[in-house]
Amino acid sequence: MPELPEVEVTRLSLVERLRGARISAVRLGKPLRWPLGCEPVSLVGRRVDDVTRRGKYLWFGLGPGAGTEAGGLLVHLGMSGSLNLAQVPGEPGPWDHFDMATDRGLLRLTDPRRFGAVVWSPSAESGVAAKLLAKLGLEPFDQRFDGAHLHAALRKRKVAVKQALLGGAIVVGAGNIYACEALFEAGIDPRTRSDRISRPRADRLASAVRAVLARAVERGGSTLRDFRDAHGAAGEFQLEARVYGRAGERCVRCDRTVRRIVQGGRATFFCPGCQRR
Ligand SMILES: [Zn+2]
Repeated sequence: MPELPEVEVTRLSLVERLRGARISAVRLGKPLRWPLGCEPVSLVGRRVDDVTRRGKYLWFGLGPGAGTEAGGLLVHLGMSGSLNLAQVPGEPGPWDHFDMATDRGLLRLTDPRRFGAVVWSPSAESGVAAKLLAKLGLEPFDQRFDGAHLHAALRKRKVAVKQALLGGAIVVGAGNIYACEALFEAGIDPRTRSDRISRPRADRLASAVRAVLARAVERGGSTLRDFRDAHGAAGEFQLEARVYGRAGERCVRCDRTVRRIVQGGRATFFCPGCQRR
């Protein structure tokens, strides 16, 4: 499943090439999670102003069309989606459900499981976009996301700290791998109750979340050529994970063995030696 770093790497791979591109045609495949919400032809002639990201959503800001207001497309990659901008695209295959042809190439959403979506909205702050983005927590790279914010938000919750991170209502982007890695880096047992995390530990955890996600984006970005590389890069990050997927192996920091437990139906990996309640 594409996580925040993969989505950010996708954005970085597209933004320079698509900024200023003019849309010449739009083709829809099979229905995605939500309908497009406009006539595909109403997108033709518009220019792409910018490509931004909020959580795991990409926002393609579009200038006004013929007799129509500016707006944009909110894109989510769902469970299995990927976006690719190609100069010489092949014919759409059975998993290609959205094509946007521009004078800079063809942007294609490939999504075998079709949990992804491309949705028209009059702006990122209104309409459908506002509704979908309303409940998202702070961006991890937002200056407002710090130990004080995290500590205050954790104090209001009684769930395990890993669950609080995964929820995405405090901070976005701490998906399963990244939550496990950040808790390892901060030395916090993932089962610790949220409201028992001290302020100094919240400081460490906030820094760890930012550092782990920044590292993943950097890793993805440094090897990026197209979206296939972005997926490869995500795999590469997993190989460098220090606890995730390493059950039974010796901890990289101490002589204890990394454990795997299940929390809320998701696998959690941690070191009982250096991660404390
Ligand atoms: Zn350890």
